[in-house]
Amino acid sequence: MDKIKGLVKRENGYRKMTADEAKACAAYNADYLSYLGIAKTERRAYDEAVRRIEALGFVELSTKDTLKPGDKVYRGYHGKTLMAVVIGEEPVAKGINVIGGHTDAPRIDIKPVPICEKGGIAYFDTHYYGGIKKFHWLTHPLALYGVIVKPDGTKVEIAIGDKPEDPVFQITDILPHFGAEQSGKKLGEAFDPEDMDIVVGSIPVAEDEDDEDVKEKVKLNILRLLEKEYGVTEEDFLSAELELVPAGMPRELGLDRAMIVGYGHDDRVCAYAGLKALMDLPAIPRRTGMVLLCDKEEIGSVGATGMDSTFFENSVAELIARQNTPSPEVAVRRALEASRMLSADVCAASDPHFPTADSPNNMAMMHAGGCMIKYTGARGKGGASDARAEFIADLRRIFAADGLTWQAGELGRCEKGGGGTIALYMARYGMDVVDFGVPLFNMHAPWEAASKYDCYMTYRAYKAFLAD
Ligand code: MN
Ligand code: MN
Repeated sequence: MDKIKGLVKRENGYRKMTADEAKACAAYNADYLSYLGIAKTERRAYDEAVRRIEALGFVELSTKDTLKPGDKVYRGYHGKTLMAVVIGEEPVAKGINVIGGHTDAPRIDIKPVPICEKGGIAYFDTHYYGGIKKFHWLTHPLALYGVIVKPDGTKVEIAIGDKPEDPVFQITDILPHFGAEQSGKKLGEAFDPEDMDIVVGSIPVAEDEDDEDVKEKVKLNILRLLEKEYGVTEEDFLSAELELVPAGMPRELGLDRAMIVGYGHDDRVCAYAGLKALMDLPAIPRRTGMVLLCDKEEIGSVGATGMDSTFFENSVAELIARQNTPSPEVAVRRALEASRMLSADVCAASDPHFPTADSPNNMAMMHAGGCMIKYTGARGKGGASDARAEFIADLRRIFAADGLTWQAGELGRCEKGGGGTIALYMARYGMDVVDFGVPLFNMHAPWEAASKYDCYMTYRAYKAFLAD
């Protein structure tokens, strides 16, 4: 008898990797590690992406009056959201192949009036950003990144905690010896986010530097220090964006080094894969290829730099305006409708220690390639952007032609899992969109784990899609 055809297989891809693939996979991940160590905030991810694409000849869209096939351009919003484009053989009005990811990640933000003193310790008051398990962030060494902008426009860049000589910051926790009351509480209620202040100092100001207007002397010492070392005042924090992220660099995980543990895989792992795929495209692709790296996904894609803004359609209009297109207004609408996108976001990998969260046969497995999530949402697909079968069939064709390993899954067991990405914001233009990204262990933890094999296969899937 012939072997049965068309079986769905989900296998560890490392088993059948060729020597050439292993080499390419290693090189890909070495570069990803260096990117991830730099891109610790959305602003830094933006700057690093621009640095890389400019080195390849991409120029700011505003510097060009016309666009021809093969042109490489980019456009940004507020130093956070980025669109990078390679103009295709076909006019933009015929549609764009888009890889859309996000570069913000869960973290701890600093409040506008942060400096306070309690019991002789000076703290910065914080407000967490995105979906976190609060206890993960207690006692962890934290690095502080961001900008403080003064009314005259001067920008002070802050990056403290990742150089070996730097100090770090910490949210303290109660010791287990005194922790009986805390241990008796529900996990979700045990940690009051108002108590998640970070320690910034504990030395009172010297007597000859005193100022009687400030009663708290440790706070005063910190104010003196901020003035001296950074030239900023307490008021300057009103116009600042400061983020606490885990201090430390991404590392290889395990004796076999099969995985990478790092902060912010969600979603810099897909952002990097998309960017690299665009950078490696043929000189003139058939359709225009685009990578969209947006901000604020973790808090609902809101705001000017989130996917719910008009950034994408404005940017498409800017492209169309440079192609001498008849009836440009309707051409923009047509381009939006005829585009198609891989919503490049991470998903949950099945964790052998937490099987009750799994949907058997429909969960991503580590090392089985990038994972396609046909629909996200929760409880009866609520809030999902459910991709149509015809689009998925076409993606099967593209991936098979390139000999790719990939898998299909859901975001966890029915009524136990769920979530959303930027897919639905793009689907409203009428375009085809589906989620496709790297499966993770401990998503949204300070340190997330990803498979090197899956990172590499996801990049190849994005590249095959952009080149189609
Ligand atoms: Mn994400
Ligand atoms: Mn996320």
